[in-house]
Amino acid sequence: MQPLSLYLHIPFCRHRCGYCDFNTYAGLEALMPAYAEALQREVRLLAEAAPGRLAVGTVFFGGGTPSLLPAETIAATLATLAEAYDIASDAEISLEANPGTLDLAKLQGLRAAGVNRLSFGVQSASPEELRLLEREHDFPDVIRAVQWARQAGFDNLNLDWIFGLPGQSLDSWRRNMQLAIQLAPEHLSLYALSIEHGTPFKDMAGRGLLPELDGDLAADMYELAADTLGAAGYEQYEISNWAKLDGGELLACRHNLQYWRSLPYAGLGAGAHGYLAGQRTANVLAPAAYIKRLQEGGVMEFPRTPATASLTPLDAQREMGEVMMMGLRLVQEGVSQQDFAGRFGRGLDEVYGPQIERLAGLGLLERVNRPADAIRLTERGRLLGNQVFLEFV
Ligand code: SF4
Repeated sequence: MQPLSLYLHIPFCRHRCGYCDFNTYAGLEALMPAYAEALQREVRLLAEAAPGRLAVGTVFFGGGTPSLLPAETIAATLATLAEAYDIASDAEISLEANPGTLDLAKLQGLRAAGVNRLSFGVQSASPEELRLLEREHDFPDVIRAVQWARQAGFDNLNLDWIFGLPGQSLDSWRRNMQLAIQLAPEHLSLYALSIEHGTPFKDMAGRGLLPELDGDLAADMYELAADTLGAAGYEQYEISNWAKLDGGELLACRHNLQYWRSLPYAGLGAGAHGYLAGQRTANVLAPAAYIKRLQEGGVMEFPRTPATASLTPLDAQREMGEVMMMGLRLVQEGVSQQDFAGRFGRGLDEVYGPQIERLAGLGLLERVNRPADAIRLTERGRLLGNQVFLEFV
């Protein structure tokens, strides 16, 4: 079996930001010790259910706010992983962190535990924009967190940023990008704000309390970011992701590459999703229910664990659609003809010939010979990715 990626979900935040629709909760910190124990139990039970010892290439602590957990808890979880799985010696081990939740000692503890990549939720450098997003940190917290991370020995940092905020000007976004570059992270993820159902932002928008989002301005911001980051030596490799080169090697997020290449990953923790043994897995959402299930359940048939709420087998048609949708997000690599044919026994053109021709005719897709015969989005296609993806699902 090819190496897996492991996603571990930490569903705790100090405060729920107004735009957030992730499975995360404020005010449940008292559950953290029992949750960490349950997570370690799920890690072991999945490994015990597997047909053989599983090899793991990447681990990702996501949330929520994983940096709320004590470094000792992260260390204990990684020790459990190392007992139960074959973790590659060069495994990428990432952790999402909120800048206001850190100090130097915490970062040193995380580094000593084996975490080798941090992803900071910065979102903006502007006090007004951070207030609008209801973030609890300020930009000086970010500067300090980056300095401490470097001091603690982290040489692989990602910064998450959001653009297209209500009332945000192009100038403010330009300033954000200049400050991002000054921090010199290895990697940047930029997301356009979208107003999701069930969030306070949706409610505010419905009551006319939030300025309308301007899609054209957001597209201008995206192009500005692509130009600015390109000029600063960052290479765009995915619709929302840029990375630096290190001695010819792109410092892409290897964990996320596993998703975009539609390769297997386990999703552990409350509400986590996985893709294992040809099935989509989804765990029960509520942390208390998750803990209870792990306390009561035992080994189940792979890839099920006591936390599994649903298993959905993917038929070939759906899997092909997902390979296209995820693979086309990789703006350099795209979807390789050879990989597709190797995986499905049918060529890309045989399955999607008319769609590819149509989208190429519209200037949204192109055929390239790098690294293999592949199709990928054009620059215009990157702005209209959703329209392209719909053709394949
Ligand atoms: S810190 Fe992140 S995960 Fe937590 S509520 Fe805010 S946006 Fe959501």
